[in-house]
Amino acid sequence: MADCIFCKIVAGSVPSQKVYEDDELIVFNDIRPIAPVHMLIVPKQHVDSLAQCDQTHQGLLGRILLLAPKLAEEQGLKGFRTMINTGSEGGQEVFHLHVHVFGGGDTLPKT
Ligand code: AMP
Ligand code: ZN
Repeated sequence: MADCIFCKIVAGSVPSQKVYEDDELIVFNDIRPIAPVHMLIVPKQHVDSLAQCDQTHQGLLGRILLLAPKLAEEQGLKGFRTMINTGSEGGQEVFHLHVHVFGGGDTLPKT
């Protein structure tokens, strides 16, 4: 997707603070962190949001979620929180599927 900021990060044309990368996923620090640790797990394949996912994305979604505790452990977090904003009414600003991972202190509202 030519106009997608996360596709540009995947392609390397926009810089990011990369935390992890494999052939399917990239993880980088959020540019406007709201917690001491705030990472975004992003599939390299462009998908607008969770609402556009179907059975064919089941494996991908599982691998995204399973990566979160692995990264959290690597970063020495004792716990973490995740968030998937979906759709404009769901607070989504970047329409390329991503999972927020927060940690490093209980700075966020409970729900
Ligand atoms: P949302 O779509 O609301 O789930 O959140 C999009 C997130 O992407 C926001 O927390 C932004 O701060 C973050 N973001 C936007 N552009 C960049 C960028 N170039 N590098 C890192 N994070 C970004
Ligand atoms: Zn994209």
